[in-house]
Amino acid sequence: MPEFEFDHAVVGGGIVGSWTALHLVRAGKKVLLLEQFSHPHTRGSSHGESRLIRTGYAEPFFCEMMPHAFRMWSELELEVGKTLMVNTGVIGVAKSPGDLKTYQAMIDNMKKYCPESLDMSDPRIETLFSRLLKFDKLHGVMMDSSGGILLAQKAVLAIQALFRERGGTQWDNSPVQKIEPIGEEEVKLHVDFQRVVKAKSVVVCAGAWTPKLLSPFATLPLQPSAVKVYYWRSKEKGAYSEKSGFPCFIDVGELCIYGLPSYEYPDLVKVCIHAGNARCDPNERDKAILDPKIEKKLKDYVREHFPLLEAEPAIIETCMYTLTPDEIFLIDTLTKHKNIVVGSGFSGTGFKTSPAVGKLLSQMAMGTETFLDITPYKLARFQRK
Ligand SMILES: Cc1cc2nc3c(=O)[nH]c(=O)nc-3n(C[C@H](O)[C@H](O)[C@H](O)COP(=O)(O)OP(=O)(O)OC[C@H]3O[C@@H](n4cnc5c(N)ncnc54)[C@H](O)[C@@H]3O)c2cc1C
Repeated sequence: MPEFEFDHAVVGGGIVGSWTALHLVRAGKKVLLLEQFSHPHTRGSSHGESRLIRTGYAEPFFCEMMPHAFRMWSELELEVGKTLMVNTGVIGVAKSPGDLKTYQAMIDNMKKYCPESLDMSDPRIETLFSRLLKFDKLHGVMMDSSGGILLAQKAVLAIQALFRERGGTQWDNSPVQKIEPIGEEEVKLHVDFQRVVKAKSVVVCAGAWTPKLLSPFATLPLQPSAVKVYYWRSKEKGAYSEKSGFPCFIDVGELCIYGLPSYEYPDLVKVCIHAGNARCDPNERDKAILDPKIEKKLKDYVREHFPLLEAEPAIIETCMYTLTPDEIFLIDTLTKHKNIVVGSGFSGTGFKTSPAVGKLLSQMAMGTETFLDITPYKLARFQRK
């Protein structure tokens, strides 16, 4: 069987693996990025045209990470000469007193880590509530001014092209069947039953497939879940478009309903419900049955609060989350194998943070100090309980 040698291998050509591989190649390493499917594909978590980017988080460590991520996204745009981020602002609302704890934590964290992004007096707020958004009473309204839309698929492809241009090697259609650690210094990857790859370390960014691939070493608390993406048609041309100044939207309540202005499809506005997902096998994603009650809640919400959207979604697409029990990322090395690094469990929020997470993963792969403290993301938080 042919053998290939690299400094580091990265398994998974989604957004996290692509960023990790790029950071490693930028550090002067000989890097292999392996993807089981051909690119672009719609089977993982990074496909589709848009993702929301914001700075405001109730968790201080996410808020701390975001200015780094924003900087890296902007630098990437300059390097590749492409627009990958569209600044629209993100309006955040707290509908009930019970949501105020999260809302206030977001504001407090933004004041600490990115005060320039917090805007409580954006003139759009009043206009939006007079026509496009309808709430009888709100307990909090804020604007995260640096937020907006990330052009998802375009970003994945741009990062991979840059990775190859910088000397990285990318193998598509190359499923990794088995990871075999050889002591502390080396790992072997068995690829597609045809090739063997030797590297000093491997970073596993295999999204929803991560728990399967790493099952010989550990039972990781990672739950693949199918989730629907809903697009709603505007009754009035251009009303909710980014060009007319409609921002991204997030309701910080329990269901965590969020929206993006029409951008990728004319007059189709993306409004989705984070809570609506169902456990799945990533190889049989579309067999998952989502709770119809959750979809009804989303429909009721749109009818009630987005007066100029049609009541039924026009397009429904499918994607996958990889959830951890606390919905906080898993970024760590395996306890018994320090040269197997894991980046997964991005729980529906890992696109925006991926440049910073990729940097952390690359540093762990090289065994250097990480630029942010990774304690909140470590596996030990589950093992202690
Ligand atoms: C509906 C939806 C909305 C979202 N909205 C947002 C948002 O607004 N903002 C935000 O920041 N985030 C959002 N997210 C989350 C974000 O998209 C994900 O966290 C992110 O894309 C995860 O990327 P990943 O690289 O970890 O996984 P993936 O993109 O799934 O990449 C993993 C890759 O690994 C490959 N792979 C798996 N096993 C193997 C193997 N054995 N060998 C080789 N390759 C393998 C897979 O084929 C896949 O391409 C959303 C997610 C969904 C589903």
